[in-house]
Amino acid sequence: MLTTQKAWKRNRLKNVSFLVLLLKMCFVFGQKNVIVIDPGHGGIDSGAIGINNIKEKDVALNVAKEIIRLNNTILENKLDIYLTRYKDTLISLSDRNWLAKTLNVDVFVSLHCNRAENSNAKGIEVYIHNSNRSKTKFSISLGLSILNETTQKLDFKKRGVKSANFQVLREAGNYSAVLVEMGFITNSDEANYFLKPKNTRGIAMTILLGIVNYLKLKI
Ligand SMILES: [Zn+2]
Repeated sequence: MLTTQKAWKRNRLKNVSFLVLLLKMCFVFGQKNVIVIDPGHGGIDSGAIGINNIKEKDVALNVAKEIIRLNNTILENKLDIYLTRYKDTLISLSDRNWLAKTLNVDVFVSLHCNRAENSNAKGIEVYIHNSNRSKTKFSISLGLSILNETTQKLDFKKRGVKSANFQVLREAGNYSAVLVEMGFITNSDEANYFLKPKNTRGIAMTILLGIVNYLKLKI
């Protein structure tokens, strides 16, 4: 069992150093794109609690901060990225979109972790709002891009792009908006995955790559 888990983890990490190279090769033309990354939950709202006691709110914030760091370093600040929260505080769902609307963003990505009664449930899924907003097809493209980068490069199970009436997506403005469920913290493999900073980095890199690819930047 231990050997299987080790092989599983090694397999997931095989491409991470290659991802740094991919990101370094990004070129951004014209005006800076503005992105809001929304780490779900916060403060008294922990979100889901993992099988190893890891909290969804902490995983989401760690990944979001890593996205900022990667943009500052590897991408040399080529994107304008803001977070809806930088600390362990609770922000209302309306305020999360208020920030995005005020900044007139191109992309809004809400970060969450999944939970299930069945501890075998695993993988990454991305949600868009179930409406016919003018931005729906762009949100689907953004969702597919993030889903493909994260699942293919890190070997997570691909659960698909789905639609739901989540408030944070329903209240989105005139920009592409998705909610990423970055794996099940009720599954021991995926919950333990987030304990390691290098894995947080891998998830952050692939989400950033997904955004960059969506923005039609050349790699
Ligand atoms: Zn959540």
